[in-house]
Amino acid sequence: MEKIDILGTKIDVLGLKESVKIISEGVATGQELRIVTANPELIYSAQKNEELQKIINTADLVLPDGIGVVWAARQFGYRLPERVTGIDLTLRLLEEGNQRRWRIFLLGARPGVPEKAVTELYRVYPGVVLSGHHGYFSKEKEPLVIERIRKFAPDILLVGLGAPRQELFNAANQGLAMVRMGVGGTIDVLSGEVKRAPQFYRDNKLEWLYRLAANPSRIRRQAVLPLYVLRVLWKKYRQ
Ligand code: UDP
Repeated sequence: MEKIDILGTKIDVLGLKESVKIISEGVATGQELRIVTANPELIYSAQKNEELQKIINTADLVLPDGIGVVWAARQFGYRLPERVTGIDLTLRLLEEGNQRRWRIFLLGARPGVPEKAVTELYRVYPGVVLSGHHGYFSKEKEPLVIERIRKFAPDILLVGLGAPRQELFNAANQGLAMVRMGVGGTIDVLSGEVKRAPQFYRDNKLEWLYRLAANPSRIRRQAVLPLYVLRVLWKKYRQ
């Protein structure tokens, strides 16, 4: 599979449809997949953290999460078909799972939120078998949470613990599910607790701006974005 190097992170040249196809085949044929949705914040922190970068680059799929990744690829002369965000991919997988009766486990978000997401999702995707657990557990409690997931035996494990914890969790838990994927704040959106950006913002690649306006405390995280842009441009200039 073709990969593009962005500041040391190797991104797969895949769109949403192809990603769903690979994952569906993985579940059908029993091939385990670990998936990273790589956004600019993650790529930026990985270039300063060798262990994290290794974890990302050894994943089975590393998907371009956000317009900042598609843009960076273009700076180096490559074309990524589109961005593949955690929420978009999750919604497509729920549709697929609805037909194939997949078992999907939601790990992450505040207590009560995964349960709410499960209730909401059963309304729309009655064919999926769902369970969940919140993401505010201690290191001591972790084995219990893992045991619960193991008992459920998910086809798909969606891990929304925030980066890089979700990436570390998935790397450390081989065999826990056919597909393990980091999804950031997706479980909040599935539960209805957090609204997704309206279509206008998504169409105009401004989802990040909407999320920032809705939740100004994200400014500290998004402050790395200009640094990311400068780093990409600097690398392009040096090449
Ligand atoms: N989270 C969690 N446990 C923690 C810290 C965070 O489950 O110890 C959850 C948090 O509630 C949120 C998600 O991780 O649902 C991270 O969302 P964020 O918006 O930061 O991720 P993004 O989608 O921007 O990558």
